[in-house]
Amino acid sequence: MIDEGYIKFDSHWRKTGPLDNAEIELLNRWRRPLYDAGLIGQYEEHGIGFGNLSVRAAAQRQFIISGSQTGQLSDLGAEHYALVEDYDIDRNRVYSIGAREASSESMTHAAIYELDPEIGAVVHVHSEAMWAGLKGSAATTDAEVAFGTPEMAREFRRLFKETDFPKTGIAVMAGHDSGLVSTGSNLQEAAERILAIDAKFKR
Ligand SMILES: [Zn+2]
Repeated sequence: MIDEGYIKFDSHWRKTGPLDNAEIELLNRWRRPLYDAGLIGQYEEHGIGFGNLSVRAAAQRQFIISGSQTGQLSDLGAEHYALVEDYDIDRNRVYSIGAREASSESMTHAAIYELDPEIGAVVHVHSEAMWAGLKGSAATTDAEVAFGTPEMAREFRRLFKETDFPKTGIAVMAGHDSGLVSTGSNLQEAAERILAIDAKFKR
């Protein structure tokens, strides 16, 4: 099932001009190899983009994330990013600003940043091969839990406590077809982790 792109939380987005954050260059730098590897892209038949990435902003509860429906674009500009200024997981709310609305998967990114102040970046990719190959052996969320919901936030808390997710930084989302998450203390670490596994699967 393709549930990509539907915003399942209460999105409070204030449209502004393009963001002016230093992190955008870094986001674009690491998005490129992910896009080239096909981990961020578009399902041609549905015309739906997939994959997104974020980096923690200077304020602890804020992060900059690629905007909704940007997966199909090979290169992003500042106008394609949003700053999540705040969120409320229990009330299922995300507050963002930017020229583009925050990704439909912002709630999951928020939930992951909540787990550990050391997590500095989150990458969400799609890969059928990695998803099928790692499901059940890597840290895996419950198949009944949909992406981008408060239940998924709770599910990540469980993974953080009960599995090797804090150490590996890799999780498979059983209830989100082809979806995986990679975290790191910074964007380079988060991106390289998933790119290294992807390279193994493509060998
Ligand atoms: Zn996804």
